[in-house]
This record gives sequence, C-alpha cells and structure tokens, in this order.
Amino acid sequence: MLRDLGVPAIFVRSAADFAGVRALVIPGGESSTMLRLMETEGLAQRIVERTRSGMPVLATCAGVILVAETVVPNQPSLGLLSVEAERNAYGRQVHSTVARIQVAPALGPPPQMDAVFIRAPRITCNDPSVEVFGTWHDDPVLVRQENILAATFHPELTKDSRVHQTFLSMTEAKNG
Ligand code: GLN
Repeated sequence: MLRDLGVPAIFVRSAADFAGVRALVIPGGESSTMLRLMETEGLAQRIVERTRSGMPVLATCAGVILVAETVVPNQPSLGLLSVEAERNAYGRQVHSTVARIQVAPALGPPPQMDAVFIRAPRITCNDPSVEVFGTWHDDPVLVRQENILAATFHPELTKDSRVHQTFLSMTEAKNG
C-alpha cells in the first residue's frame, strides 16, 4: 500500500534497518512471535524510545496488541498506546470477516470503510487523549493518540488507502 502511494518503504528486520526509517508500521501477524523477534533484535527498546520522542507509528492488528498499554490475556507489550487490547476477542480464524466500519470525517468521505478483521483484538480506551477515528458495532477499531495511529483491522488488504494516507500526513507533519 505504501509503495502504491509512492513511498519508498522498506522492511525493518534489524536495528540497522530501523535506524534508516523515519516512521514505522508495526503490522499484523502474531504478536507473541513479533515480540520475541523484536526483543532478540534489540528493537523493542529502540522502538519505545523513538515513539516516545515522536516518530509516527501505524500499528495494525497484532501491532496494536504490541503497542497497547495492557493486553488481555496478560502479555508483555511496549506500552505506548493508552488502550487495553483483548486478543482474538472477535473469535477464531473462521470468524474473520470483512466488515463495513464507520469512519470519522477527518479521514475524508465516504463515512464508511470496508475493513478486514483477522483474529482481531478488541480495544477499549478511556483516556481522553485517544481519538476514535473508526468504529464497528460501537467498538473503537481505528484510533489515534498523538503520533500513533492504530487499526485493529488490516488496512493494507483493501483498496481504500485512507488509513495509510492519514499516517503519511502524520509523517509529513512531523518531518516537514
Ligand atoms: N491474533 C493475533 C495476535 O494475537 C493478531 C492477528 C492479526 O494480526 N491479524 O497476535
């Protein structure tokens, strides 16, 4: 999706890769595995430091679990986003679905978006600094807190690029 939008994106697999980027997507996958790999690469601490100093982050699905302040059932996390994430809260793989979610006017028209949920986490947030940009059955599914944009679905799997465009505008605002 980023390449389609003309962004020279690279995969970050090591601390050296990470040193060369100015914004980060923490994608879907399996949060427990990603956490382990991030720790062996020494990436977890670096990601925490740079995110705290303002690096734009787009976290999707498992990425949201990684940045969440608390995880249910209990799992270590980077503790960067003031939400609680409940893993696999919408059911197993067979319950994965494409849903039509409601999005805030800030994303531009139309007010709905198709969203692919794959063993998605459910997030809850009570912190007023977490802005809700998208909902599905009253659950927040797209939120922003300062430099972190978080989607519990997979915005890279549809043609709608508004989530990535929002992330890019955060990147431009930060880097000029
Ligand atoms: N269920 C996965 C987890 O808990 C997330 C799934 C996904 O990223 N699509 O890490």
